[in-house]
Amino acid sequence: MRKSMIVGNWKMNGTKKQVDELVKSIIANSSDLSIDIVLSPPSIFIQQVSSLIDKTNLKLAAQNCHFATTGAYTGEISPYMIQEFGCKYVILGHSERRQLFAESDELIAKKFHAAYHVGVRPILCIGEKLTERENGQTLQVIEQQLEEVIIINGVEIFSEAIIAYEPVWAIGSGVSATPSQVEEVHSYIRTRLAKQSATVAEQAIILYGGSVTEKNAKELFCQLNVDGGLIGGASLKAEEFIAICRVAETFRRRSKG
Ligand code: PEP
Repeated sequence: MRKSMIVGNWKMNGTKKQVDELVKSIIANSSDLSIDIVLSPPSIFIQQVSSLIDKTNLKLAAQNCHFATTGAYTGEISPYMIQEFGCKYVILGHSERRQLFAESDELIAKKFHAAYHVGVRPILCIGEKLTERENGQTLQVIEQQLEEVIIINGVEIFSEAIIAYEPVWAIGSGVSATPSQVEEVHSYIRTRLAKQSATVAEQAIILYGGSVTEKNAKELFCQLNVDGGLIGGASLKAEEFIAICRVAETFRRRSKG
């Protein structure tokens, strides 16, 4: 049985005041929800959010981390540090990290390994660029991005780690993938995991991300292999974020058949 999850990726947005207001508003309107709701603020706000969500059901994710525990890596934060400050999750391999910061599949797999081994559950983002989709390479790209993580970490890790399918062309563009495009990729991912473990495939949480809004959430989340969403822009508005969480709540538990 898989539990639905909504992750809000705030990217590099917010002030102390905005963070305070956003989190308080989410807390005030989400106490009746039973899905997993995860907030992912910029790292400088992790402690602030951690204090605000103390004693609530909300959870915290970092947007990135290094693979080393400590060391001479100016400007980086380690998996141990995010764990110590209350992060249960970390987003890894977001397309903005892959494209703007040249993160390779190998580097992402190393970060994934390091985070998992200090008790932080990685949320692995994978997805094709527009040209790759147009050239019919979507499933090949997905396979390749998954492969490196599976080689280094083993497939069993996905009974706890999360996968977020985020087509690069849909992120922040206002153009979501269609429900059938999403379901095709999610079902491919689950089938790929099942080649090595049917149990892991059944347990794996696979989120969709890319221009999810209150309006399109239902048609996306009702797909059989979609277990919730990774939400960017819409996670900065408490009302819309909660509305998306409420849609996910209606599909809160999924199982085979
Ligand atoms: C994201 O940043 O992961 C994302 C999905 O953004 P948006 O919802 O704005 O497309």
